[in-house]
Amino acid sequence: MTLQHIREQVAKQEAASGRALGSTTLIAVSKVQPDARVKAILDQGHRVFGENRVQEAAGKWPAFRESFDGIALHLIGPLQTNKARQAMELAQAIHTLDRPKLAAAIARLAQEMGTCPDLFVQVNTGEEPQKAGVLPADADGFIKDALAMDLPVRGLMCIPPVDEEPSLHFALLAKIAARNGLAGLSMGMSSDFERAIALGATHIRVGSAIFGERVPA
Ligand SMILES: *Cc1c(COP(=O)(O)O)cnc(C)c1O
Repeated sequence: MTLQHIREQVAKQEAASGRALGSTTLIAVSKVQPDARVKAILDQGHRVFGENRVQEAAGKWPAFRESFDGIALHLIGPLQTNKARQAMELAQAIHTLDRPKLAAAIARLAQEMGTCPDLFVQVNTGEEPQKAGVLPADADGFIKDALAMDLPVRGLMCIPPVDEEPSLHFALLAKIAARNGLAGLSMGMSSDFERAIALGATHIRVGSAIFGERVPA
């Protein structure tokens, strides 16, 4: 598939779901992709990208930012507290706020830096032990605490279990967001972004469908 093809699919699904055209932000997930592929997407005018690792993003994006204006980076992978400052300097959004200690670290840094990326709280909708994210039962309290710290929480993010119907998880995430007054929903990847849009995704994270299979570094 190509970027153009994905954009068409997104628009088609927005229309089919009765949503405004352009109400979904397409995050092109460029982790582990060769620079040439990333540059090809930049050359087509796309500016919103997702990276999993702070280290990798820091190695790759400063150079692209010298050649292309208006790049927005979304950090979509787990964030260690000791990398929070670097993440906040690099990224316009962090999708993986998932524990009180990280919230406290980001709040402290935000005060010091005078600025903070948009934040999404990651919810472990499948309650998988190995997966990051706050449990659905703890989400309301965690969101309330984060907002009380003046953190710019814009929405929620989830990664459904691989072997389950993602729509159930997207619907649960949308429900938790709605009852907490949050507008943002980061959900949907290459294999299920259409279903995510139908259930209200505002941000979809699409990697392999845009770039091709990931090439191990
Ligand atoms: C890699 C990744 C994606 C993109 O996955 P694809 O299946 O390649 O679209 C989306 N979200 C997260 C959190 C990821 O780690």
